[in-house]
Amino acid sequence: MSERIREKLRILADAAKYDVSCSSSGSDRKNTGHGIGDTGSGICHSYTEDGRCVSLLKILLTNHCIFDCAFCVSRSSNDIRRAAFTVEEVVELTMNFYRRNYIEGLFLSSGIFKNADYTMERMLRIVKKLRLEEHYNGYIHLKTIPGASEEMVTEAGLYADRMSINLEMPTEKGLKLLAPDKSHAEVRKELGVIRKKTLQYADEMKLIKSTPKFVPAGQSTQMVVGATPESDKDIMFTADDYYKAFSLKRVYYSAYIPISHDNRMPVIGTQPSLVRENRLYQTDWLMRFYGFNVKELLNDAHPHLDMEIDPKLSWALRNPHVFPVDINTADYRMIMRVPGIGIRAAQKLVSARRYGKIHIYQLKSLGIAYNRAQYFIRCADSPFQLREKDPQDIRRIILQGSKGKFSKLQSNQLSLF
Ligand code: SF4
Repeated sequence: MSERIREKLRILADAAKYDVSCSSSGSDRKNTGHGIGDTGSGICHSYTEDGRCVSLLKILLTNHCIFDCAFCVSRSSNDIRRAAFTVEEVVELTMNFYRRNYIEGLFLSSGIFKNADYTMERMLRIVKKLRLEEHYNGYIHLKTIPGASEEMVTEAGLYADRMSINLEMPTEKGLKLLAPDKSHAEVRKELGVIRKKTLQYADEMKLIKSTPKFVPAGQSTQMVVGATPESDKDIMFTADDYYKAFSLKRVYYSAYIPISHDNRMPVIGTQPSLVRENRLYQTDWLMRFYGFNVKELLNDAHPHLDMEIDPKLSWALRNPHVFPVDINTADYRMIMRVPGIGIRAAQKLVSARRYGKIHIYQLKSLGIAYNRAQYFIRCADSPFQLREKDPQDIRRIILQGSKGKFSKLQSNQLSLF
């Protein structure tokens, strides 16, 4: 690799690191036999200590940008070194790294140079060249350029596995404050285009098997958390709205890392709240996989997540009237709501109880964290019930029991996946 390319890579990979929406799950693009790569079996996620994904070649096409979003390191007013890859350079880098097993896919984003279509056209050329000329079957996550034409966005969807466009701030008010050139309406429009086309292609595929796949790994978005004063409720209500309106695969939450002296945002040196970021992911998980309605977890009376305990435990302590849950008779969906019982443990428990009553000694082998669950369940031989303990006492006991873990959380991000 020439020194010039190496330098560009250093600048443009560094500028891309603030985008966390790079999970590669959900794609089943198969190698057709004469290509290179196969996302169906080859992709795995790798997260750095602070939870960022590192398994993809994650770069910007350029960090030149005509916009001046205050929270972004590539903003036009920022005095930084700028660089831009050519189409050929990105293709060559991707193929080289892929062949050497350095990466399992490409995550390509970009600042906006000249205008949205000018930039999008280059990104489109890259993905087409990779797929059609290099026969590359690895994973591609393409960021859509806000304001790009519907035709180009749609065409890109035929070559990318996942597409995404960032909401940036959780509310329009926050966005207008820091990125007046952007709007949520524009994001909705592009997500809507992809959604509409995805449904259209899926319908066509039912009739014509050879219909090409369109964005097979779905679309996602990302919100910056902590740059503007939105509450956790504001953030999760927005996420819920977008999940429902556009069937998003993922919403990513990225704790804001102060990078500029701007009195509208936290000062440089303020630590990004990685614990908050993680609590938001846990809430997201509860909404998507545990059947919680966002309003049960966050509402006007409870607009902020508890940073000391996870949102499921927090919900359980606020709702003592639904406990204890009799694990020998309760509905599966209710069992999943018990702190200390995850989805797999709930499944195992429901299967196991077909063979007889469940006793305490069996819980550990079913994957249940009894030290938590004990306050919320009743087994065949439970010694006491929740009502005998005050929720505040339970909170204190659980916190004491996990003191080491929680104090570590103040500086490190929780393990998510
Ligand atoms: S448009 Fe994107 S790259 Fe440009 S300043 Fe805004 S966030 Fe940064």
